[in-house]
Amino acid sequence: MAVLGIPQNTIAVLQKYQFHFQKKLGQNFLIDTHVLDKIMDAASVTNEDFVLEIGPGIGTLTQYLCENAGEVLAVEIDSSLIPILNETLKDYENITLLNQDILKVDIGKIAAEKNLGRPIKVVANLPYYITTPVIMSLFESHVPIDSITVMVQKEVAERMQASPGTKDYGALSLAVQYYAKPQIVANVPPNCFMPRPKVGSTVIHLTRHETPPVLTDDEKLLFRVIRASFRQRRKTLANGLSNAAEIMLSREEIAGCINELGLPATVRGETLTLSQFSQLSDLIKNRMKSK
Ligand code: SAM
Repeated sequence: MAVLGIPQNTIAVLQKYQFHFQKKLGQNFLIDTHVLDKIMDAASVTNEDFVLEIGPGIGTLTQYLCENAGEVLAVEIDSSLIPILNETLKDYENITLLNQDILKVDIGKIAAEKNLGRPIKVVANLPYYITTPVIMSLFESHVPIDSITVMVQKEVAERMQASPGTKDYGALSLAVQYYAKPQIVANVPPNCFMPRPKVGSTVIHLTRHETPPVLTDDEKLLFRVIRASFRQRRKTLANGLSNAAEIMLSREEIAGCINELGLPATVRGETLTLSQFSQLSDLIKNRMKSK
């Protein structure tokens, strides 16, 4: 039975193993059953699903996942948590535990071998120091993914869901929205964790698009253009892009592309939609080709 969401049970496990939290590993364990229920509702895990959990901690969310999923793969970097997990997950036969750094695991290979290449679900209370690299590498490596339901820092969730022209809109919003439809599920206050984090948290559900919402000639160039456009937020788009070493066009040539798009010369990157970035990137590609 899933019991660790109750604070006394988490405390008993931590004391039994004399566990010491490591701040640098983002160790803030969930101690609120309502939040765990919300994560599970949003993830809609069924016994047909193969679930990847990143950072199981002492197994609080993992127990819920094992009770609902077909198979669970949990990847935990901290070896001092492995004996604890062996005990808290001993009643489940559908769990595979990997003592590794998630950034070094070939998830695509595991999904191919263990789930015959079918889309997996990712569910996690993420270590916040690696939120962006984890999510971007899951998307960019083209691992077959159905959805990602994760607890992240509140500001990061807001950036993922932000629309053009808002203060939170940036390269992360565009990257996430290129691959998935983000939906904020719940805001979670610090007292739902042990120890309490210094920041607010949010559960966000990302449903992977079957096909990207825009068609681009060159996905890599699109993301280079997006990153360069937001590197110097206060600059106009033309200035920002002409300062970018990876885009080999003059300021005049970039201004020409912006003009062809029907946008004013003074436009800033933060107002462009994903579709406009995609058209701009294709225009830039054509100009670079014809040089
Ligand atoms: N899932 C647990 C819960 O909700 O109570 C723990 C979540 S805690 C926020 C993050 C977990 O990720 C910790 O157990 C931490 O040791 C683990 N972790 C940190 N960096 C990691 C990495 N690079 N790869 C795998 N696990 C990592």
